[in-house]
Amino acid sequence: MSSISLQNGVRVHAIQTGTVSIKELQRDGRGRNRRSLPRVFMDPRWTEPLPILAWLIEHPEGLIVVDTGETARVAESGYFPRWHPYFRFGLREWVAPEQEMGPQLRALGFSPGDVRWVVLTHFHTDHAGGLAHFAANEVVSSRTDYRFSRGLLGKARGFLPQHWPQDFAPTLTDFPDAPFGPFPASTTLTAAGDVHLVPTPGHTPGHLSVAIDDGETVLFLAGDTSYTEQLMLAGTPDGVSPDPGRARQTLARIRQLTAQRRTVYLPTHDPEATTRLERGQVTPQS
Ligand SMILES: [Zn+2]
Repeated sequence: MSSISLQNGVRVHAIQTGTVSIKELQRDGRGRNRRSLPRVFMDPRWTEPLPILAWLIEHPEGLIVVDTGETARVAESGYFPRWHPYFRFGLREWVAPEQEMGPQLRALGFSPGDVRWVVLTHFHTDHAGGLAHFAANEVVSSRTDYRFSRGLLGKARGFLPQHWPQDFAPTLTDFPDAPFGPFPASTTLTAAGDVHLVPTPGHTPGHLSVAIDDGETVLFLAGDTSYTEQLMLAGTPDGVSPDPGRARQTLARIRQLTAQRRTVYLPTHDPEATTRLERGQVTPQS
């Protein structure tokens, strides 16, 4: 497993909870053209299996888990609703039971009971699929995405609220706090002021990223803001973002951050992300 130690006594681990394959049109987007979900579903080209990453932050104030990865239950028939075209035509996943977040935390010597906060970048299945391990934990998400993802409309949009823990009641943020770099708002999670939740809308309307700032370097846990660092640098929104314009604005802000600060950019499905984490490899400043 890959990890890095920062100046502020924080250690960050990348935890891979299996792999996912999506359509190339979803990953690479379609330039300036309008997005079209049917075209993504009809694309015969699957990506190679991509990592499904989640993150463990060992912080003096407690453990912070960012995203919960996927569950091995995806192999059960009926886990995904068959009526939804995305699960039929857009997604393939491979998760072994020991790859789930709970067993991997235990392998590192921790348990879900040690976790102070679970932060969700958004509620797509490969980020929220491990929530069952954290039924007793405080989960933090954006208010916008919680509302976007729950209920019947959430199901129609491809979320799986039926698999969230019973009486699920996340702590919801509206990002009221101070700007963080080029981002106009952020919520600071830790009393030490070194872990920030940053609104990065586009892939979903309330998508958030987690910025860990040790004063020298920013580790940017980027969720699905883009599938690779190259696509972020190119400013290309993915092929499923409901609002490509906002996605483009978010990618521009991330590029501004990488120009202002030494930033290690860590999206969930980037095959290079774990190597960049281990090496503390920052985005080249253009
Ligand atoms: Zn997603």
